[in-house]
Amino acid sequence: MRTQDYIDLEKRYNAHNYAPLDVVLERGQGVWVWDVEGNRYIDFLSAYSALNQGHAHPRILAAMVEQAQKLPLTSRAFRNSQLPLLAKELCELSGYPMMLPMNSGAEAIETALKAARKWGYRVKGVPEGAAEIITCAGNFHGRTITIVGFSTVHAYRDGFGPFTPGFVTVPFGDASALEAAITPRTVAFLIEPIQGEGGIVFPPSNYLRDVRDICTRHNVLMVADEIQTGLGRTGQFFACDWEQVHPDVVVLGKALSGGFYPVSAVLAEREVLEVFGPGDHGSTFGGNPLAAAVARESLSVLVDEGMIENARLQGAHLLGRLKRIESDHVAEVRGRGLLVGVELKPEAGHARRFCELLKDEGVLCKDTQGTVLRFAPPLVITRDEIDWAVERIEKVLLMPGLGDSHATTQ
Ligand SMILES: *Cc1c(COP(=O)(O)O)cnc(C)c1O
Repeated sequence: MRTQDYIDLEKRYNAHNYAPLDVVLERGQGVWVWDVEGNRYIDFLSAYSALNQGHAHPRILAAMVEQAQKLPLTSRAFRNSQLPLLAKELCELSGYPMMLPMNSGAEAIETALKAARKWGYRVKGVPEGAAEIITCAGNFHGRTITIVGFSTVHAYRDGFGPFTPGFVTVPFGDASALEAAITPRTVAFLIEPIQGEGGIVFPPSNYLRDVRDICTRHNVLMVADEIQTGLGRTGQFFACDWEQVHPDVVVLGKALSGGFYPVSAVLAEREVLEVFGPGDHGSTFGGNPLAAAVARESLSVLVDEGMIENARLQGAHLLGRLKRIESDHVAEVRGRGLLVGVELKPEAGHARRFCELLKDEGVLCKDTQGTVLRFAPPLVITRDEIDWAVERIEKVLLMPGLGDSHATTQ
């Protein structure tokens, strides 16, 4: 079968809820992937940061195979011999006293929202049923009905109402707007330290510290969604570490499994996670031994192989090189660690067109918001590999008059 045969099958039998680039991948190793035609590409997306440890990391693969042969699933009706070790190791590494394991990122966000509400009623003393949670304009926290209910992106919400009440929106990066929105019923503020899907948007410096102070002052939980920014992506374990901010609740997913398996977790202060008792929350697969073994090894390799420092080092190199490209299409280059956004000028045309051209050059990345190219390679990338990719990115960004006639939409 060739590329077009796979595309035809998928179009016919699979729901059309994505518009992927027309490349059919069948193998990956480190920062490289190969398509069914044998072409090699550098992965500059890393499955939206789920592949921080690179494709098919041999140590994670070995841990996965070993656990799969022994015992993949117990359900939480019984205990297993991997979950307690993951809980201990993740808590020690992150500086939180407790964790709760789930599978997808969205489920972990839902878990954090449930914890925050129950904490509001049981600990803060908010009247039952009245809890408010503040979120940011431009947020992305997943795709459940509750989560898209507080999205500000039309397409994420359109046709999916009615939505869960109890959510309030404030502008991202505006600490006084947050403070003004807090009422005695506010239980939590949910925030991405850097908005990923929103377009690699950075808040003003010190914003996270101001948020921390405001939340502390008003007895509101600061809940950081580090699903995309955490686990080394920005050159620190958490993106919040850049401002030495310790949220009350942190949500992890994506790279927690090194790309092998859906594993997510909520990390929080005891007072928050202790609101859960037997029977009031759960997941059949959450905390299963296969997930726990994979997550343990994914965390180990991140630390053992210096991937977080490498993200800082190579990220600075990538950002520097991209900033030196003198392209008429580029409005701004911004980034931290290996999370970099190249904002195109409106007249450059849809960013997707650039992604298609980059694919033809052997660089896989994805646009976000129509105007931003997101570059987020695995954290195992070397300086030479970055230079290889930048040469190709430069070639595409220097192509003349791209957007005028070729602009496409998703
Ligand atoms: C990807 C992502 C999610 C959702 O994770 P899923 O595993 O796709 O449910 C939530 N928040 C952020 C910031 C993300 O990047």
